[in-house]
Amino acid sequence: FLLIDGLSRSHGRQRVLKDITLGLPQGALTVLLGPSGCGKSTLLRQIAGLEPLDGGRIVCQGQDLAATPPERRGFALVFQDHALFAHLSVYDNVAFAPTEQRLGQDEIARRTRRALEALQIAPLAQRGIHELSGGQQQRVAVARALAAQPRLLLLDEPFSSLDPGLREDLQHMLRELLHAQNQTALLVTHDQREAWALADRLAVMQAGDLVQAGEPDRLYSQPATPWLARFLGHRN
Ligand code: ATP
Ligand code: MG
Repeated sequence: FLLIDGLSRSHGRQRVLKDITLGLPQGALTVLLGPSGCGKSTLLRQIAGLEPLDGGRIVCQGQDLAATPPERRGFALVFQDHALFAHLSVYDNVAFAPTEQRLGQDEIARRTRRALEALQIAPLAQRGIHELSGGQQQRVAVARALAAQPRLLLLDEPFSSLDPGLREDLQHMLRELLHAQNQTALLVTHDQREAWALADRLAVMQAGDLVQAGEPDRLYSQPATPWLARFLGHRN
């Protein structure tokens, strides 16, 4: 569905991404896992088109995206700083994309309700954004992106400000809804439990390198490098 081919990125002398090649299969949730600072968010921004490429290309459904501006890619992003529409209610934030897509009223309501329920924020639907906690706002941002049903959903640490119990509930709901929608998605995390709970496919980065990508069980049973074996061995 999407091919990241030989992507490189440098900040000054630091090589943040080193020749990354990774395919994202249609309808699957790929989890990008790696320690803090390894380049995960940078890779996501490059896919979204928010940063120039220093080398390599990104191809979506056979089309090179080099000349496609971010808003024309048909992707939805949830970043660590989840920018919501502060003047709209929770409901109107989530209904925003389906409304823009000029869907019928029933379909807008159905998608919006389903996303609100999956993220357990239906009771907050009529609230204003400024009346929510940080974790609630984060869930509104994820619901908004899900309701858009984009060609590709990009999630950067979407559950980082939630406590462990709620986080596990939402991981479960998110996985169900993604599969029900046959939604192609790439989710970034440094949390191994989260990676294991969610991933159809797992990609692990370390210091700008893509160490290995594939079926989670295969990475665990046949890690490509000693570093990866040690890294995954720490999961419990
Ligand atoms: P985290 O898990 O902490 O979010 P990450 O894997 O998302 O980390 P990135 O944000 O992609 O990491 O950053 C990768 C590296 O690039 C880091 O070492 C960071 O210091 C560096 N970096 C990112 N943005 C810039 C910038 N604008 N200028 C200079 N260096 C940068
Ligand atoms: Mg990051």
